[in-house]
Amino acid sequence: MTDQNQSLFDRAQITTPGGVNSPVRAFRSVGGTPRFIKHAKGAYFWDENDTKYIDYIGSWGPIIVGHAHPRVVKSVQEAATKGLGYGAPTRAEVEIAEKLCAMLPQLEQVRLVSSGTEATMSAIRLARGFTGRDLLVKFEGCYHGHSDSLLVKAGSGLLTFGNPSSAGVPQAVSKDTLVLPYNDVDALQTLFKEKGDQLACVILEPIAGNMNFVRASQEFMHTLRELCTKHGTVLIIDEVMTGFRVGLHCAQGVYGVQADITTLGKVIGGGMPVAAFGGRRDIMAHMAPLGGVYQAGTLSGNPVAVAAGMTTLEIISEPLFYEKLYERTRQLMNGLEYAAKVAGVPFSTDCEGGMFGLFFAEIPPKSFADMMASRTDLFPTFFHAMLDEGVYLAPSAFEAGFVSAAHTEEDMMKTVVAAERAFAQLKV
Ligand SMILES: *Cc1c(COP(=O)(O)O)cnc(C)c1O
Repeated sequence: MTDQNQSLFDRAQITTPGGVNSPVRAFRSVGGTPRFIKHAKGAYFWDENDTKYIDYIGSWGPIIVGHAHPRVVKSVQEAATKGLGYGAPTRAEVEIAEKLCAMLPQLEQVRLVSSGTEATMSAIRLARGFTGRDLLVKFEGCYHGHSDSLLVKAGSGLLTFGNPSSAGVPQAVSKDTLVLPYNDVDALQTLFKEKGDQLACVILEPIAGNMNFVRASQEFMHTLRELCTKHGTVLIIDEVMTGFRVGLHCAQGVYGVQADITTLGKVIGGGMPVAAFGGRRDIMAHMAPLGGVYQAGTLSGNPVAVAAGMTTLEIISEPLFYEKLYERTRQLMNGLEYAAKVAGVPFSTDCEGGMFGLFFAEIPPKSFADMMASRTDLFPTFFHAMLDEGVYLAPSAFEAGFVSAAHTEEDMMKTVVAAERAFAQLKV
């Protein structure tokens, strides 16, 4: 039998750089052939060879209610029959904005865009326009999409390729991006002392999911909030990944810290291209057409995409949704930790809501340096052993994993059994 994945990958490389439309999909850091997905349902997807996998990527986060959820599919179909887009405002956009602001009250106003990259890029322009300052602060290992100012020491795909920054970003742009180590309270205080009044904004992932899964400490989050308030610096909490993924009140609910501007994406589109940025009304008032900060999008608020997002938000708002999701995720983490212990593999996990991290280290990392010091060399063998067992993890040691409401206890048990065999193959 021909390997359909391989033959498609061969073809793809002729007309698409590296054969993929987003670099990590190419399996470069784990080796082997990317799986080309044919269809998906619930917790599973099937590749072009008709091999079934338990999916722990969920489209990199969005698929929190499971693939092709009947209610989401129905709402998309209904929206599509009314036309695919108008480039004029719709009732659905009003409703999803009201829903987002009700779910996360620090959003007094919100603007819809089509990708997380647009959300963070626009949030930064807004912060600069609002403060009249240029400097932006980000943290090592945090990824905020691929706009120029943010591709400096970013995580995710860049880490996978061993180069934390991108070629093609002008010096003139990157010089205004200051990078600090994650979770380093002293470095933060020192910077604010020296330059606080020149800082337009600080942007961070509250739980960094683009260097695997690294939590900000409570102290770090609260210090950051205080310093930003004191110096009139806009605090942008990038919840594109964590938003409605780690809990109903996002990571800000977990920490009890409120952003000035929040960026959202992934889950709020339920698998379709919807993202958003929003926050304080006095700041949002600087957006065109009210104010002087320009931002726009042909497909922003697209009715078909918004339908998928809105239905997903309705489903996750149902009672006990996150309790059940967390229970399953926790069960999986416990099982994997136990399996690793039996196999004598240095391993630990962490999770929040339906998002998790797997580390080849005795304790979960607290910084980019910790993450780099872990045994990421063990990951490719582990990854492929799991894949052979029908378990699809993110093809990089620097990515978080995701559980959906469609994953069953049986899926968790199968995954743990697969992991027992995978751990046994590792040479530690
Ligand atoms: C995925 C992600 C982005 C970028 O979103 P895209 O939709 O891929 O452009 C930005 N920030 C964080 C934290 C993300 O996880």
